Amino acid sequence: MASHIVGYPRMGPKRELKFALESFWDKKSSAEDLEKVAADLRTSIWKQMAGAGIKYIPSNTFSYYDQVLDTTAMLGAVPPRYGWSGGEIGFDVYFSMARGNASVPAMEMTKWFDTNYHFIVPELGPDVQFSYASHKAVTEYKEAKALGVDSVPVLIGPVSYLLLSKPAKGVEKTFSLISLLGKILPVYKEVISELKAAGASWIQFDEPTLVMDLDSHKLQAFTDAYSELESTLSGLNVLIETYFADIPAKAFKTLTSLKGVSAYGFDLVRGTKTLDLIKSEFPKGKYLFAGVVDGRNIWANDLASSLSTLHELEGIVGKDKLVVSTSCSLLHTAVDLVNETKLDKEIKSWLAFAAQKVVEVNALAKALAGEKDEAFFSANAAAQASRKSSPRVTNEAVQKAAAALRGSDHRRATNVTARLDAQQKKLDLPILPTTTIGSFPQTIELRRVRREYKANKISEDDYIKAIKEEIQKVVKLQEELDIDVLVHGEPERNDMVEYFGEQLSGFAFTVNGWVQSYGSRCVKPPIIYGDVSRPKPMTVFWSSTAQSMTARPMKGMLTGPVTILNWSFVRNDQPRFETCYQIALAIKDEVEDLQKAGINVIQIDEAALREGLPLRKSEQAFYLDWAVHSFRITNCGVQDTTQIHTHMCYSNFNDIIHSIIDMDADVITIENSRSDEKLLSVFREGVKYGAGIGPGVYDIHSPRIPSTEEIADRINKMLAVLEKNILWVNPDCGLKTRKYSEVKPALNNMVAAAKLLRTQL
Ligand code: GLN
Ligand code: ZN
Repeated sequence: MASHIVGYPRMGPKRELKFALESFWDKKSSAEDLEKVAADLRTSIWKQMAGAGIKYIPSNTFSYYDQVLDTTAMLGAVPPRYGWSGGEIGFDVYFSMARGNASVPAMEMTKWFDTNYHFIVPELGPDVQFSYASHKAVTEYKEAKALGVDSVPVLIGPVSYLLLSKPAKGVEKTFSLISLLGKILPVYKEVISELKAAGASWIQFDEPTLVMDLDSHKLQAFTDAYSELESTLSGLNVLIETYFADIPAKAFKTLTSLKGVSAYGFDLVRGTKTLDLIKSEFPKGKYLFAGVVDGRNIWANDLASSLSTLHELEGIVGKDKLVVSTSCSLLHTAVDLVNETKLDKEIKSWLAFAAQKVVEVNALAKALAGEKDEAFFSANAAAQASRKSSPRVTNEAVQKAAAALRGSDHRRATNVTARLDAQQKKLDLPILPTTTIGSFPQTIELRRVRREYKANKISEDDYIKAIKEEIQKVVKLQEELDIDVLVHGEPERNDMVEYFGEQLSGFAFTVNGWVQSYGSRCVKPPIIYGDVSRPKPMTVFWSSTAQSMTARPMKGMLTGPVTILNWSFVRNDQPRFETCYQIALAIKDEVEDLQKAGINVIQIDEAALREGLPLRKSEQAFYLDWAVHSFRITNCGVQDTTQIHTHMCYSNFNDIIHSIIDMDADVITIENSRSDEKLLSVFREGVKYGAGIGPGVYDIHSPRIPSTEEIADRINKMLAVLEKNILWVNPDCGLKTRKYSEVKPALNNMVAAAKLLRTQL
């Protein structure tokens, strides 16, 4: 009975690759130094998998930046602006595409399906010339082989590659990316031939786009592509790997009819309906790579339950054709639990990071082969049982309160127009009111104070004093700038989710549980393991302290339940919405306590609402329904005179505008740095709705300081679409990554622009 791993994290257990990359980019170390760190990481991963007994060990899942960019390099599809003149693509061109250089900006980056991983989007036009320009897949295969590991080289499949690309500038509307298939397949053939010559007996193509709702034209591209590759692939065992969702029945048919393909990989953690398809129509004589170990989360597998699924599958596909695998690449989970020395012992027993998941996969394969490691299985069963019965997981009162929310509806009693009138009487704001999104620059000094307080190196009194001084500075600055609705600047927060997670029960934190977000960047999501409750107010002290420093309205600043959920590792023993409702109830208590403390404007950030949208259309309405409901729960109990703001970062919410309106916030601030047309239609909807809207008037991701004229020009463009009485003036997002030397003049110009236009309206 065989075992397989779809892919493995590259960063290393202590983010070794991150530090090596950043040091290389800063010119503090050489290319050889970087290559050495990378080779050591690959070696240790291969040895670890081989040592655990994994049969099908992947190669070419390592990357210096991103696997899609690696494919772009393999195909020589370098956009002309990077001045590449042929030959093997080296670090220079590769990192220029990833990060830009002094003269050319980077290629665009976007989210990899519904994960928090971001890939570099290929830019392809009709004139692109493909050539075999990076031999990385073959080099890595040989490298593993030299270490005694006959690996399965992994390539992004040709159809998914094209479907994930975008048309180059100028041909956006007219160009069909799929039409390039015939041009990229010759390069794929070269790579396949070289892998064969090097001794490969298996090859894995990742074709995750197969789980999306593809039309028949796109599905046909898979049939065409693999027919064309069939003769080159002959002699190889070919695995097509899918992941992240149920595969639609039509795509399943296409996939299982592909020529020259001998094995299919499915995500059986998210793909419960896929299981039914397999049971009813899996083709005879083919391999099934059953992804039963979750690559997207940090929970230990329920081995007994997986084993029974596998036994069932064995009956369908045959003993020698079933391979135990992960649901997707382990890239999306943390690396190694061994380094979590501070985690509570009981909670730790419930977890498995990538290194532990490798062991789980192998244990399942061995059990199927009749060599069950009884000790391992019973330890696992004991941990599962302790998780089910642990009092730290279950809080009856919270369970009851959350259950009562299901199927009900919560919204404020009065409509938005009436509420805005009531609020205006209290707040007395000028037309085109100015505000910011929350955070002010996070100085080195501030980070030091927080760090020392956490490490018990300074007293609570000293800490409070330091944070108060910072708030005082930020308040004074905003008054000098003459901003209308102030913020306290969030100096006490390290991260907008962690700050709340640390104060809520049901959350745990890791020391090294990093997951790659893009390039060298990683995030460390909190773990939600139990019912969520709020032992005491979380922000009231700081917000009321800040309010006491000014006569102007001070915005309370909270992270919304959907964002807390989407940026955490979420428990898998109850539906996501259940957990979200629990968080919503905790935030509701906070909102009401802020109101009681005299805070009249409260912003509830939902930066990550859009990113939790399920991949399959059929599941989206349900998600949006409970996500938006969760948001409304947080503020359904406030008075009309309390103004609720929300903020969202991403500008691609054209498709979810009705849900955004249904959030029923009084004011919505959104990122709008590209001031694109699509967003304008969103605003138009907003007009009908009547809420205040603050499309960011300048981009905070860049150090550039926009002039008053430029900002006024932007506001004028918005005024052409939006009524003047609903428009707010604010930057795109929080200012924490900027310097005061940038923030002061930029905000100064922003206020000047608003004032200028007020005189003209
Ligand atoms: N209030 C947060 C801040 O200003 C919002 C951040 C975000 O939207 N990502 O930092
Ligand atoms: Zn934002």
